[in-house]
Amino acid sequence: MNDSEPRDFIRKIIADDLESGKHTEIVTRFPPEPNGYLHIGHVMAICLDFGVAAENGGRTFLRLDDTNPGKESPEYVAAIKDDVHWLGFDWEDRLTHASDYFDRLYASAVQLIEQGVAYVDSLSAEEIRQYRGTLTEPGRNSPYRDRSIEENLDLFRRMYAGEFADGEHVLRAKIDMTSPNMNMRDPAIYRIRHVPHQNAGDKWCIYPMYDYAHGMSDAYEGITHSLCTLEFEDHRPLYDWFLDQLQPEHRPRQIEFSRLNLAYTITSKRKLKMLVDESIVSGWDDPRMPTISGMRRRGYPPQALREFVRRAGVTKKDKLIEMGALETCVRDVLGDAAPRRMAVLRPLKVVLTNYPEDRVELMEAMNHPANPDFGTRELPFSRELWIEQDDFMEDAPRKFFRLKPGGEVRLRSGYIIRCDEVVKNDRGDVIELRCSYDPDTRSGTGTSDRKVKGTIHWVSREHAVDASVRLYDRLFNDANPNAAEDVHSVLNENSLEVVAAKLEPSLADADEAVQFERLGYFCQDAQDSRPDALVFNRIVTLRDSWARLEKQALESQVS
Ligand code: ATP
Ligand code: MG
Repeated sequence: MNDSEPRDFIRKIIADDLESGKHTEIVTRFPPEPNGYLHIGHVMAICLDFGVAAENGGRTFLRLDDTNPGKESPEYVAAIKDDVHWLGFDWEDRLTHASDYFDRLYASAVQLIEQGVAYVDSLSAEEIRQYRGTLTEPGRNSPYRDRSIEENLDLFRRMYAGEFADGEHVLRAKIDMTSPNMNMRDPAIYRIRHVPHQNAGDKWCIYPMYDYAHGMSDAYEGITHSLCTLEFEDHRPLYDWFLDQLQPEHRPRQIEFSRLNLAYTITSKRKLKMLVDESIVSGWDDPRMPTISGMRRRGYPPQALREFVRRAGVTKKDKLIEMGALETCVRDVLGDAAPRRMAVLRPLKVVLTNYPEDRVELMEAMNHPANPDFGTRELPFSRELWIEQDDFMEDAPRKFFRLKPGGEVRLRSGYIIRCDEVVKNDRGDVIELRCSYDPDTRSGTGTSDRKVKGTIHWVSREHAVDASVRLYDRLFNDANPNAAEDVHSVLNENSLEVVAAKLEPSLADADEAVQFERLGYFCQDAQDSRPDALVFNRIVTLRDSWARLEKQALESQVS
């Protein structure tokens, strides 16, 4: 691809608008409703809204789209702000709320009535539904549709003044009850709701509908390109209708792109909230959640999320992206950035019978195999060690190059050891290996040039620090849980495993993501880890364990 070519159709439109002089400055907004925490789908919208403006020296508003009191809360507002900042974007002084414009929206609604294109309807919600018709049948005009402008103004003022109960009246646009587009069949503009508002307090008992408030807020802020997901395509005629009627100074243009869907993941705030409310997860920031706060706690770097949506691209076609694609981005960032450490997740005791009881050697270990700038550290080595249970096999196949009875293996940054004896408990479980080490094979300085095929990690038993390590698996068993009628039916019961691990001593104060050699990337859990009770999260494994599974699932979706 030519470097100067816009990356996607939206960037192409924006480039054309600048070139033609239609706009001299690009202004966008990211408009979340504060009714939940942001998720991976929102990452796409954030990167697009902030990205296209920044690339063109423009500006972006963070607008809290709070037209639905009752479901919205300051907790969500705070989380949204945190998440956008953490992702690496800044709205500067452009934090707004749809509710900031309630006065203007009210005045504009009065203007619509005065122009004869809005009326107060007094049908019940059920009647309004019946009058609306269906996709195949036209709707019918409400008997209240031809009220006089004066009567409409009077009723709307009294709706505002709180004289009516919820649902008694509704302000509607007078468009066309026979339109093939249901959104144009006299949609509601204002409804009565005697509910306090998270930002506006109890000033209002009527609230504007999303379609009206959204487009007009765009106009008030001078938004040039209002980017949203495809489900709003059928709402665009209404978006434009309000602009046509009210002729604001700035005329924004709505452009739709496809939602980002991630396999094995839910991207609906409503369903994610259910998982939180039912304590299926520990909270919105549970590291298994596809929320930004969950992924942050899990240890995903923000650059990885940004790179992921860049690779996903902006299109008009709905797509289901593999989890592997996201994890690849996480690995790419951490592979370069994370120092290497040693940790044993499922410890098996090793005693080096020919190693002096009280000796401790400090072994020098590289912090990063490919980058000497990371330096080295010293690992204490002693007579008793922990190794990984599955690095030993009693009846090993010929090609098993780790430890087996009578076999040899190299301890990374240590010595070559041989397994002389296997100790078992009454139940027949292997509980200890008695081994001998070859003093001439010390890594780096050994005099022997002996080679063995396998290298394993270890920690010194006396020096190890204990930690709970949380190993996460996918939260859902189904490739497209968004489509499941009942999310309970597609939950993976084994999405969290906790192991009692042994870590090298330097990990006691690890404050960044690290690679546990041979195991994956890990970080301390920011919520639960304490100096005397360390908790680590597995961010991602070293290799793509999803690939096979997802390939199958995606193939079965296509066929
Ligand atoms: P949800 O269904 O999770 O509640 P929403 O669309 O209702 O999502 P909003 O808070 O209204 O959530 O979304 C804010 C912005 O993020 C909107 O412009 C919306 O189009 C965009 N967005 C939401 N979900 C996705 C997604 N999966 N992919 C891309 N953009 C998204
Ligand atoms: Mg929404």
